[in-house]
Amino acid sequence: MSQADVRPQLEGRVAVVTGGASGIGRAIAVLLAEHGARVFVGDYDPVADNHQASEQLGIVDRRCDVRIEADVRELIELAVAEGGRLDILVNNAGIGMVKQIVDVTEAEWSACLDTNLKGAFLAAKHAIPHLIASGGGSIVNTASNAGILPRAHDPVYSTSKGALVALTKCLALCHSPDRIRVNAVCPGPVGDTRMMNADLDRVEDREAAVKQFISASPLARAEGRMISPQEVAAAVLYLVSDAAQMVTGTLIAIDGGKSLGVPPAVAP
Ligand code: NAD
Repeated sequence: MSQADVRPQLEGRVAVVTGGASGIGRAIAVLLAEHGARVFVGDYDPVADNHQASEQLGIVDRRCDVRIEADVRELIELAVAEGGRLDILVNNAGIGMVKQIVDVTEAEWSACLDTNLKGAFLAAKHAIPHLIASGGGSIVNTASNAGILPRAHDPVYSTSKGALVALTKCLALCHSPDRIRVNAVCPGPVGDTRMMNADLDRVEDREAAVKQFISASPLARAEGRMISPQEVAAAVLYLVSDAAQMVTGTLIAIDGGKSLGVPPAVAP
């Protein structure tokens, strides 16, 4: 491949994005489509407002619960049937779980692990034969800074994302002979998402909570804002592009340095 070919253009590629109805997943679906990919979104809670923009960008939105194998298989098969091939899978569907272990019910544990981890396993399982048939491809998992360094306020979520990081590395190793690259993005704190809004809706002082999220990330604090879904999507675009042809099993932290360590103290 010549240097001139190394650019993030996705014409002729077919992509599946889970959890693509809102937040980070929506930004990923839109950016991949804007770069020429045929995008199929699976989400269990579609957003009606997306309809017009999806139509303009050729994004196909389907109801899909990533915890259910039949739903996931149908989504992948739809993409292959309508797109003619599969090149890209973005496992982005996820839910939060802000609770201490002793307060988490068995059903809540299952909901979190099944969405954040089993969903990615199911999608990879059904996508891999099609990626192989396409001569290789790219899987990107949306993990979290919680997958790099666990957090005290959401141990079950952190466990799910840590395991998703492990799955990312296992898949990258196992499927390198198939020329399938598997990487993860580890975002946070990202604003303008349903998950973040749900977290903020739970607290009494929303403004103070926003400040707390921002100040936990050194660069977010320096910039005085949260990270945007589009900034995460930009990293995904790089990972699925030919520019990343030798990149597999890596984590890109789009967290403003949150997972680096203890940030410098600031005056109260
Ligand atoms: P979001 O709630 O806006 O997006 C998550 C999407 O996943 C939603 O559209 C939701 O309907 C969908 N979804 C949830 N469960 C599903 C299921 N069982 N089947 C299909 N779709 C399902 O929130 P977001 O912040 O954009 O989250 C996207 C991903 O980013 C998640 O994996 C989340 O863990 C991760 N993440 C978010 C942040 C953040 O600060 N917002 C930080 C790190 C990681």
